[in-house]
This record gives sequence, structure tokens and C-alpha cells, in this order.
Amino acid sequence: MRIDIISAVPDLLESPLSHSIIKRARDKGLVEIHVVNLHDYGKGNYKQIDDYGFGGDAGMVIKPEPLYKAITDLTSQRDYDHVIYTSPDGEVLSQGLCNSLSTARNIIILCGHYKGIDHRIREHLITKEISIGSYVLSGGELAAAVICDSIIRLIPGVLTDETSALSDSFQDGLLAPPVYTRPADFMGWKVPEVLLSGNPRLIQQWQEAQAVERTRRLRPDLLEDPEDIK
Ligand code: SAH
Repeated sequence: MRIDIISAVPDLLESPLSHSIIKRARDKGLVEIHVVNLHDYGKGNYKQIDDYGFGGDAGMVIKPEPLYKAITDLTSQRDYDHVIYTSPDGEVLSQGLCNSLSTARNIIILCGHYKGIDHRIREHLITKEISIGSYVLSGGELAAAVICDSIIRLIPGVLTDETSALSDSFQDGLLAPPVYTRPADFMGWKVPEVLLSGNPRLIQQWQEAQAVERTRRLRPDLLEDPEDIK
């Protein structure tokens, strides 16, 4: 998979995309991430990318020209499955959407800033708009990092134990059961007996019962409408 992220503040993306699982995925060649600095496409000597919004509202808006140039520079070089804009009014990111994005070959993620981007770019060049939740961030970079992290870990070969993504929350419409490690007794706080039994069938039954109980208690909405996470 190749991901091109267009950003006015590329430094914000540096650390989240250079460590741990994403770093390993990049090192193994399972994902290529390129960060495009929107200022490189800015206008004039000052590389201007923003301007006052029409209509008198306070706040700057990212201009259409640099966005158009940055996006078409990429789309003229290869086909993209999705040209994504991170936006609070987009489709809310879910495990189901991550699953579907993880099968793409090439993706562009455009990060907004200030009051947002000129709406004509959204109408004509953006194919998908994604929100990471019902709150407003200062810029799309953290949202882009969340999208990258949640989809890259689903690419086959990225996680060392491939089944581990499948047993995570939401994959089967349920929250994950609790997990424990050694010591079995920590200051008198004990690990559930069944996990020490060595009986895989009993352990699996316990984990399934825990997943259902936790989902019913913490996220009953998932049981009522499993389509929510599709
Ligand atoms: N005026 C806009 C918010 C702009 S916030 C509005 O009220 O809808 C600046 C940028 O941050 C946005 O252009 C978008 O790219 C990003 N952003 C903010 N909140 C976000 C969210 N919940 N999910 C994804 N991106 C978000």
C-alpha cells in the first residue's frame, strides 16, 4: 500500500509514523508513506496557502490552487483508490471502514487546517471524507495518523501474530476480553483461575463470555446495531 499525506504542517506527522508497528511495516516494505508539504505548492514568493474566507467569518481557509496542484500532481502519476479529506463532518471512522481501506493500493489523505479547505476542492477532487470523532481538532494531521495506524496494522504481514488483529475489539462485533500477564498473583490481585487451567476450550468459552458481557455493559449499541461497525 502507498499512502500520500498532504499537509501544511508535515512535522506533526513525523513521530506517529516513524515508530513501533508502522515503522516495522515501512521497513518491511509493506507500506510506503510519503508526506507532501502543501507549502511546496503555495502561491508566490511567500508560498501562500491560505486566505480570508468569503462571507466575513473569522478564520483563514486553505486556498484551492495549492490543493489542486498537490492533488493532481499525485493523481497524474498513479491511480488512487481514495482521495480522502479528514473532516469533522465526514463518515466516522470505524473498524469496518478501516478493514475496507486496508485493502486499497494507493490512498491520498488530505489534512485540513484553520477553518478548513475551499469547498470546491471537496466537491470536485475528494472521493471520501473521514472524521475520527465528533469533536474538532486544530488540523487533520492527528486524524491522518489515526487513519494510517488503524489501517496499516490490518495489512497482512504487519502484525507478527496475524491472528492478533482478528481477536481485537470490533472485529467480530464485540469488545475484546480482558488480558493478563505474569505474575499470576500480583500483591494478592489474582488472574482468573480459568486462564491458568491450560484447557483451551474452557479458556475460549471464558473469553467469549467476557467479550459478550463487556459489550453488553460498556457498548450495548454494538449488539443492537452491528452494522454500526461495518
Ligand atoms: N471549521 C471546521 C473545522 C476546521 S478544523 C468545522 O467546523 O467543521 C481544521 C481541520 O482539522 C479540518 O479542516 C480537518 O482537516 C481537521 N479536523 C478537525 N476535526 C476533525 C475530526 N474530528 N476528524 C478529522 N479531521 C478533523
